Amino acid sequence: MPLKTPREQKIDEFCAQGKLEPYRALVTRVLDDLQAEGVNISARYDVEFSNFEAYDDKPEHIRISLKNVKVPLNVLWILFHEFGHFQSPKITPGDNKVAREELAWEFAEKTITKYPELAAEKESYEACKKWCLNSYYREYGLPEI
Ligand SMILES: [Zn+2]
Repeated sequence: MPLKTPREQKIDEFCAQGKLEPYRALVTRVLDDLQAEGVNISARYDVEFSNFEAYDDKPEHIRISLKNVKVPLNVLWILFHEFGHFQSPKITPGDNKVAREELAWEFAEKTITKYPELAAEKESYEACKKWCLNSYYREYGLPEI
């Protein structure tokens, strides 16, 4: 069998470590579509959180934690959320951190509508978004949702 391309290896990695094998076709489309917009996506295993990195001297990069994945769909929701940070205006000093998080989720929701097979998973999405936002609301002493 011919060697796999880096693209195929990444799809395999997200399906295996993210426990997303049942969603392989979707994972493939999402990784291809998002990266076509100009952001790199890779997995990380050092911590259980994901992030978006934008430095002046490096290409923009989304790092998705695939460490101890318990809810496979959360990998996708978080990926759409981090992509929402990529779509958001550049950070400026004095930006409201909570507002930026909410904005990234708004962008995520728009992106998700492009994948009709996820429409039935709305509840899982809402739970993930709520959990993530509440961690910020708690940190900033705001009422939880
Ligand atoms: Zn965020």
